[in-house]
Formats: sequence, C-alpha cells, structure tokens
Amino acid sequence: MEALAILVAAGRGERLGAGGPKAFRPLGGQPLLLKAALAFEAAPSVGALVAVVPESEIEPARALLRPLRKLHAVVGGGARRQDSVLQGMKQVPDGFEGVVLVHDAARPFVDVPLIDAVARAAAESGAALPVLGIVDTVKRIRGGRVVETLDRSELGAAQTPQGFRFALLTRAYEEAFRDRVTLTDEAMAVERLGLAVATVEGSALNRKITTPEDLLWAEGVIAQAGVRA
Ligand code: C5P
Repeated sequence: MEALAILVAAGRGERLGAGGPKAFRPLGGQPLLLKAALAFEAAPSVGALVAVVPESEIEPARALLRPLRKLHAVVGGGARRQDSVLQGMKQVPDGFEGVVLVHDAARPFVDVPLIDAVARAAAESGAALPVLGIVDTVKRIRGGRVVETLDRSELGAAQTPQGFRFALLTRAYEEAFRDRVTLTDEAMAVERLGLAVATVEGSALNRKITTPEDLLWAEGVIAQAGVRA
C-alpha cells in the first residue's frame, strides 16, 4: 500500500526573520514547500500528499500545489508542530492501513531514495526515521557550565520524513495528547510507549532551514551543479 505524506508547513519561521511564512520563502525561484512536495510527488512509495499550512495561506498553498497529481488536501495548522501534524492526520482516509510519512516542509532537499527508505522501514518495523551522525562533540550544559561530555558515537540528529503505520501513530498521538506531552518530533510519541523506532541513514543535504544562515547555505547548494533546483 502506498504511503500518505503529511508536509507540515504551518510554522511562523520567526528565526528566519521577516519575509512571510517560511514555507513560502523562495529558494532558487521555488517556495520551500513546493520543493519538498515535488520530492514526495516523485517518490514511488508515496500515493497521496497532505499539506498543513498557516490558516491565512490555505488558498495560496492550494494554488501552488494544484499541479501535483498526488495532492489530497491542504489544511490549516495549529499552534504547535504536533497540533499541525494532528490536523494533517485528520485528512487520512477512514480505514487507511498504510504508512504515514510526516515531513518538515522546511527540509527542501529531501530526496526520493530517503523517502522510499523510510517508507519501507516503517512498513516493516512500524516506525522509522532518518538520523545523521553528530560531528561535533556534544556537552551537557547547566547554568552556563559543562556538566559532562556525551558519547557521540551513540548520538544522532533526528530528521524527517518520519514514517509510521497509521494505527501506531494514531495511538501514540492519542496518548501524548492525553498526557499533555510536548513533542519535538513524532518518533518521540512512539518511544514513550516503549516501542521500537528503526533508523535509516539521514542526509546532510536534508537540513532544516531555520535561520538566515541556513537559507544562505541552501542558496549555495542550489548554485552547485547536480542538485535538484
Ligand atoms: O519550528 P520548526 O523549524 O521546528 O518547525 C519544523 C516544521 O514544522 C516546519 O516545517 C514548520 O512549518 C512546521 N510547523 C508547523 N506548525 C507549527 C510549528 C511548526 O507545521 N505550529
């Protein structure tokens, strides 16, 4: 069964500075949201796409994404990322038994092999996400002082898309909302149930565009040959 992708793009993008909602920032002439959506449109493992955007941007987003054959719905998001994901989950058709892939629209360089690898791992294991090894030495800091150095061989940075069998994500979300937990990603909701989350190798290009420096980096990537523009 083909996966359903939920692209969350309802953040205000305040760390990126003024210039409107982050998802609509142009990158090489294409809004971030469209760049990310085109990767899912091209991925064989994906059958449908739901975009979650700020309420005020629903109509512009519909116009932007209308050419995509897989587009299923464009809906308004919520105050927190997890509220936006929940709005996207409400668009999943009744009886859907496949995998849902949740992706940050702020990661425009996601590619088809990564999407398909996460979808496959999630179908097999129930839950999967891409992780990238940490290159810096990571310290635990309290009150401006170093408490300890963590073993970076055991650490990884979580990326998206994160994939889940829909029934599993539904249960994990229900429990997280019931327990009033703030989630920074979807896998966290599954982990707290004591269930396994499989990992696939992430990609340095799949970086989240958060700050003006990230945007500069992304423009540089676009300027290089060989990267989808
Ligand atoms: O804020 P952050 O960079 O962690 O957001 C990650 C992704 O989640 C972004 O694509 C952002 O648009 C989305 N998001 C959302 N709704 C929110 C907050 C963030 O869809 N309320």
